[in-house]
Amino acid sequence: MTGRFAPSPSGRMHLGNLVSCLLAWLSVRKRNGRVVLRIEDLDTARCPRRYAEQLMKDLRWLGLDWDEGPGAAEPNGPYYQSERTALYQAALEKLMEKDLVYPCFCTRAELHAASAPHREDGQVIYSGACRNLTAAEIAAKKRPPSLRLRVPPEEWGFVDGRLGAYRENLAEDCGDFLLRRSDGLFAYQLAVVVDDAAMGVTEVVRGADLLSSTPRQLLLYHLLDLPAPAFYHGPLLLAPDGRRLSKRDADAGLDQLQNRTPEEITGTLAHWLGLNPSGEPRKAASLVSDFDWSKIPQGNLILPRDKL
Ligand code: GLU
Repeated sequence: MTGRFAPSPSGRMHLGNLVSCLLAWLSVRKRNGRVVLRIEDLDTARCPRRYAEQLMKDLRWLGLDWDEGPGAAEPNGPYYQSERTALYQAALEKLMEKDLVYPCFCTRAELHAASAPHREDGQVIYSGACRNLTAAEIAAKKRPPSLRLRVPPEEWGFVDGRLGAYRENLAEDCGDFLLRRSDGLFAYQLAVVVDDAAMGVTEVVRGADLLSSTPRQLLLYHLLDLPAPAFYHGPLLLAPDGRRLSKRDADAGLDQLQNRTPEEITGTLAHWLGLNPSGEPRKAASLVSDFDWSKIPQGNLILPRDKL
């Protein structure tokens, strides 16, 4: 089997990112699979190379190694999404040939104003305003459009390895979603599907914030005739007040933890994940043999105030 981590290096990693990396890594290593590292730097302005370099240094320091990716074997490279746009373009063209793509000229403000009640996760539901524009209407527009997928009114569901059954009616719960932004950047949903398939990934482990992206990705696997992987959505690490940790929470960032040993960090993360009852310092590799998804808590994790 092959698993991966696919970080977006828009800053130094924080403990929440590391929870997801550690889980993905343990789940693969437990089954003697291959770990792929892919750098999701589609938004190159936000993800300069130096952050990716730092991220790889940090992962190595923590003992989270990879078999394929930058600095390792590269059978399915390149491993930077910013260098893979020709593949995304080819997938887009495949969807265009099936007449499943249309240009959308809505501004951000229009999208928000027209959204049916927003979803709990803040995602805007697209109203379909540009779905049936005529060729003349399109020709009259002055701005470059984004491109959207025409979503069929069907349910897409799957059984998550940790959270169980999850389904969405994409037309109602999401609407026609973006494949390419108006500035030409390909959307995460398209890129991640193209890449996981091209890299032979059979298991995706990532944070539960991406659970609701999975039905969209399953639809794309189907439309592109690609085999879909198994999915596990792991717990999120929340700030003590219940907010999601972000790169702005500097106190949970690796910058602030440089006086700790890597074993202290992996031992503590594993403790929060139910994998290291005593909380003692542990090398990542020492956690592999006892790893089991059934030990991972069902809810999210709260960052204790005293942290490490
Ligand atoms: N690049 C995404 C992130 O850093 C993760 C994508 C994925 O695992 O599918 O949040």
